[in-house]
Amino acid sequence: MRRKLVVGNWKMFGRLARNQALLEGVAAGVRDLRNTDCAVCVPYPYLAQAQALLQGSNVAWGAQNMSHHEEGAYTGEVAAGMLVEFGCKYVILGHSERRGLYHESDETVAMKFDAALKAGLQPILCVGETLAEREAGITEEIVARQLDEVVNRAGVKALEKAVVAYEPVWAIGTGKTASPDQAQAVHAFIRQRVAKLDGQVAQGLCILYGGSVKAANAAELFSMADIDGGLIGGASLVAEDFVAICRAGK
Ligand code: PEP
Repeated sequence: MRRKLVVGNWKMFGRLARNQALLEGVAAGVRDLRNTDCAVCVPYPYLAQAQALLQGSNVAWGAQNMSHHEEGAYTGEVAAGMLVEFGCKYVILGHSERRGLYHESDETVAMKFDAALKAGLQPILCVGETLAEREAGITEEIVARQLDEVVNRAGVKALEKAVVAYEPVWAIGTGKTASPDQAQAVHAFIRQRVAKLDGQVAQGLCILYGGSVKAANAAELFSMADIDGGLIGGASLVAEDFVAICRAGK
């Protein structure tokens, strides 16, 4: 049985005072939780705050992006080694907002994935289709392309140290959640695709669902066979809501 994982993606939200209340609230709310791993991915400037407040708690922390370069003249970029120095466990890569707004290609995401693993970070690889792609019936094609690029570069065994997040773009921040059956179908597809290369890696692979997960729908989504937890945007900004989602995994 795979452990559940719930990860908050704060996106570009936060202020020191607000963060403190949120981080302390989440840490207190999951203190006794044993069956689920929890983490928050915060904006870079707040990594030191997350590290100071979450050290020794049940909540891990991470970042939402990174450069694929180790270091150099890349103004405005942040390297994996820097994230490691702030105690990050996870880094979200290939989020649809990065792919869509900042034109990150599958190849760039795969290079970042490789660099994250080499630095000792656990990448959370986001994949997912737009509404137009779903309506065109090419969801699996899109998800396969995004996944294959990474597997071809890093090798299937790399997935042992990574997490995949299925995030249908049409469900992110829209209040429109994929139904448990819709999500389960894509999660099963991802697992089967990995199983064709390595059954054991596929069996152990943690696949999160992301897209308007709320306290009210989390338990049903997380009860599906191939849904191992969630990547949570909006609801991760309210301690009570995020804690309820963390506690929804059986
Ligand atoms: C996300 O930011 O990855 C996300 C899933 O957002 P939301 O939960 O707000 O849809």
